[in-house]
Amino acid sequence: MPDHSTFLICANDAASFACITDVDTNCACADAGAHLESEYAETQVESHTVSELVTPALYIQPLDATHYVVFNPLGEAGPVVLNQHALGLLEAFATTRTPEQVAQIYIDAADCLAAVELLHALHLLQAPGTHRRYRSSDPETLVVWLHTTNACNLRCTYCYIDKTDEAMDEATGYASVDAVFKTAQQHGYKSVKLKYAGGEATLNFGLVTKLHTYARTLSQQTGIALKGVVLSNGVGLTKAMLDFIHTSGMTLSISLDGLGHSHDTQRVFVNGRGSAQVVVRSIERAIAHGVYPHLSMTVTAHNADEIADAVAFALERNLLFNLNFYRDHNETLAAEEHRAEDAALITGIEKAFAAIERNLPQHSLLSSLVDRANFASVHETACNAGKSYLVIDQFGRISRCQMEIERSVTDIYAADPLTEIRLYDSGFQSVGVDEKSGCRECEWRYWCAGGCPALTYKVTGRNDVKSPYCNVYKSLYPSLLQLEGKRLLKRHTLQKA
Ligand code: SF4
Ligand code: SF4
Repeated sequence: MPDHSTFLICANDAASFACITDVDTNCACADAGAHLESEYAETQVESHTVSELVTPALYIQPLDATHYVVFNPLGEAGPVVLNQHALGLLEAFATTRTPEQVAQIYIDAADCLAAVELLHALHLLQAPGTHRRYRSSDPETLVVWLHTTNACNLRCTYCYIDKTDEAMDEATGYASVDAVFKTAQQHGYKSVKLKYAGGEATLNFGLVTKLHTYARTLSQQTGIALKGVVLSNGVGLTKAMLDFIHTSGMTLSISLDGLGHSHDTQRVFVNGRGSAQVVVRSIERAIAHGVYPHLSMTVTAHNADEIADAVAFALERNLLFNLNFYRDHNETLAAEEHRAEDAALITGIEKAFAAIERNLPQHSLLSSLVDRANFASVHETACNAGKSYLVIDQFGRISRCQMEIERSVTDIYAADPLTEIRLYDSGFQSVGVDEKSGCRECEWRYWCAGGCPALTYKVTGRNDVKSPYCNVYKSLYPSLLQLEGKRLLKRHTLQKA
C-alpha cells in the first residue's frame, strides 16, 4: 500500500517465504509434503456480477488496540496484519458488494480500491460462491539422507539409531550419489538435497567432502541443482570441516536441546557426561568461521520447560532454528518417558514464543515453531517420506524415513528405487490430510497437515487419523499467528522509521 494510505495491510512477501522454506528443510526430516496448488479458485454464482466480493470465514485476533492479525485458513497467503481501517473495509464486504459500492463510503476512493485489490490478492476477499480446491503439485527437490556412518560419539537418550562402528565406504558412497542423480533424472527433479547424516557425519567427514565434491560434478553435468547440509551433534567439528562447509556453500545443522541441564539430560557422551558446553562452543566457533548453523531442537518431557533458553540463544545470534516434538519410535522405550504431557509441552512452547516476542527476528518463523506444521504454504502431508525422500544407509540400502532406517525397502542398485519406495504399502503411509478422520474438518488442516505420519502410526496403529499431538497443535496455532502478526507489524514499523 502507498505510504499515505489509510489502510495498513502487511503480509509476507515471496522473499520471506523462501527463507521460511529453507528453515523447514534443514532439520532431520524430509521436506514438508507437496505444496498444494489452487486448482479451482473462484466460482461466480450466476446471479452475481464478476466484480462482486465477499469476506470468507476468517480467523481474526487483535494484536494491540489498533491492529489485528487476520488469516484465511482456506486461502494461501498466511497471516496478514490489518489496522482498524483495513479491518473495517473487510467488514464492509460482510455481505456481497462490488468494490465501487464500498468505495463510495470513502473520501479517497482510489485508495480504497487499491486496498480492496490487495485484500483480494491475499485471499481475505473472494468472489461469492468461491470453493477453493487444491491439488498436489509435484515437489521439485529430491531429498536424500546419506547415512555416512552408523557410529556416534554421543548416546542421546531419545536416539532412534541402533549405533555400531560401521561406516559407509567410498564405493558405496559414490554409488549412492550416482543412484541419487539417476533417480532425479528419471523422475524429472530440478534439484537434489543431500543430508550428510549418521550416526555422526563428522566421524566420516573425509567421505562427506569426497561425496559432496562428486555430487557437485554430477550436478554440473546433469543441470540438476544441488544443496548439501551436514547434520551434526556439534561435538567434533574441526576448523577444517568448517572451512569445507563454508567454501562449498553447504549448510550446517547442529542439534541443541537447551543451554545447560536440559540439553545435558538428553544429549550425553558415551560416558554419560552432558554435551551442552561443547556444543555451544562449537556453535560460537562456527559463527566465527562465517558458518551460521541451523539449530535443530528436539522438545521432550525433559527439556520442554527450558527450550525457551535455546530459542533465545538462537535469536541473539540471528540463527535459524526449528522445534521438533519428540516422536516415539521404539517399543522398548517407554514413550511417556520422553513425550511431554500436552500441558507441559504447551507451556514450554508458549515460553519460547514469549522469548521470541522479546526479540522478534527479521525472518518469519512460520514453519519452524510447532513441530511439523508449516504455515508458510498450504500442503497436504507433513513430510515427503514415501514420496520424494530416500534414506540411504551405510550399506546402500534404502528406506522411507530415517526413523525406519533398519527397515529397508530397496537399495541403490535397483533400477528405480524411488518407485519402489512409493509403492511400499506396509507400515505408515503418508495419507493426505483430507483423508484423515478428525483432520478433514479442521480449520488448520492445510497448514498442519496432520503431523508426522510415522508417529501417528506408531502410537495409533492407523494412518487415517489425526496426530497424537493434535491438542497441542490446536492450542498453539493461534499463538503462532499472533506472534507472526507482531513480527510483521514490527517489520512494517521499522521499514517506515
Ligand atoms: S492433527 Fe489436529 S490440528 Fe492438525 S489438521 Fe489434524 S485435527 Fe487439525
Ligand atoms: S515420517 Fe515423520 S520422522 Fe519420518 S521424515 Fe516424515 S515427519 Fe520426519
